[in-house]
Amino acid sequence: MGEHRIQLSDVAVRYDNGCEALRGVSLEFTPGEKVCLVGENGAGKSTIFSLLVGLVKPSSGTYLFDGSKVSGSKMLKTVRKEIGLVFQEPEVQLVANTVFDEVSYGAINLGYSDDEVAHRVMGALEKTGTSPLAQQAVHRLSGGQKKRVTISDVLVCDPSFVLMDEPNASLDPERVSEVLGIADTLAENGVGVIVSTHDVDFALEFANRIIILSKGRVCFDGEPHDAFRNRELLRSAGLREPFVVEFARRYAEEVLGYEDDTISACDIDGLLEWIVKTR
Ligand code: ADP
Repeated sequence: MGEHRIQLSDVAVRYDNGCEALRGVSLEFTPGEKVCLVGENGAGKSTIFSLLVGLVKPSSGTYLFDGSKVSGSKMLKTVRKEIGLVFQEPEVQLVANTVFDEVSYGAINLGYSDDEVAHRVMGALEKTGTSPLAQQAVHRLSGGQKKRVTISDVLVCDPSFVLMDEPNASLDPERVSEVLGIADTLAENGVGVIVSTHDVDFALEFANRIIILSKGRVCFDGEPHDAFRNRELLRSAGLREPFVVEFARRYAEEVLGYEDDTISACDIDGLLEWIVKTR
């Protein structure tokens, strides 16, 4: 996998109805990152994804992929091969009768031979643990199985980035863990995984980089613990503290008598270590 890079510089997106969904957005993404785009409803998360896969265009600013401006059919084709979007609702994405046919679409579009398509489909199903479902009817799958098949849908193109729109929105916790496991493995193998969510607990568990969006602007881009212990930032973006951070802060304030919230507690291990150290 080459060193593909996504670069947005001072991008604005204005929809036909005049809604300015993104303003002054400058972001870079590289393969292998696990990023969460976090923001309340309407913050602009889906618009960033639509922009990255070329479904909407910047009204100002520039979008570069691998250093080339994303405009024109050749670059759009590159971007759609290299950046796979997994929609929030599997039903929006799934179109074929069987799982095999469903996942084969992307590879057929790239012009591979029948043998190569079959090889790629089975590889993409393997990565999401859905190989045994290859000949099953899509409409008979459970919600979690459908979600994993939609991930295979994009993996069949061997993308360097996978975007997941609110993957935890309609899944139970066990199915969310499955999706997180797949995303972790993808990132370990050098794929950039960018996940949108308004769920701060989910973001804290998953990401090693947090981007907070508010009203179409990036108001934070950095380490999860810097994002999630900044109550002012969270409040201004319409987000709450993750549960473990709130627990640690309240423990410090109410049990240990701390007057400020200078606690770096972004995971249970860190929290326990901190409590033991400060007792
Ligand atoms: P999020 O994914 O964070 O909920 P969106 O990117 O969907 O945010 O929306 C950002 C803003 O753009 C919202 O004000 C929304 O109403 C508006 N918007 C989104 N899609 C469209 C569209 N197709 N046409 C007009 N306005 C839109």
